[in-house]
Amino acid sequence: MSQDNNCIFCQIIAGRQAAEIVYRDGLVTAFQDIHPIAPIHILITPNKHIPSLNQITTDDQQLIGYLFSIAKKLAAQYEIEQSGYRLVLNTGKDAGQSVLHIHLHLLGGKSMPVKFG
Ligand code: 5GP
Ligand code: ZN
Repeated sequence: MSQDNNCIFCQIIAGRQAAEIVYRDGLVTAFQDIHPIAPIHILITPNKHIPSLNQITTDDQQLIGYLFSIAKKLAAQYEIEQSGYRLVLNTGKDAGQSVLHIHLHLLGGKSMPVKFG
């Protein structure tokens, strides 16, 4: 599995950095965001180091789809599938991406503003 030793999320995935892991399998790891902005704020990330959506290839298509199916599973587990939830995938500077390891934010447990930007 290709990883980047300098990447904080790769370190979490490898167990070298502490995080509250809520789901893990051979392809994906999900853990609590260290600075939650909603009652439920989980980061869902591939175990493989991909810096951002800009670097995905056709080989990654299934993996990216799989992140969404894990998001759905966790939304059910955290009982927000009926109340609703938001998935956010920041890419690049203007979106405020701060960790260069692709990840979905699963946000829920409160009503969120509709507008972006
Ligand atoms: P981004 O802005 O790149 O979309 O989101 C990165 C997220 O990762 C932020 O919400 C931030 O709070 C979270 N984060 C950054 N470093 C760590 C860490 O070391 N542990 C955990 N659990 N979350 C982190
Ligand atoms: Zn990484």
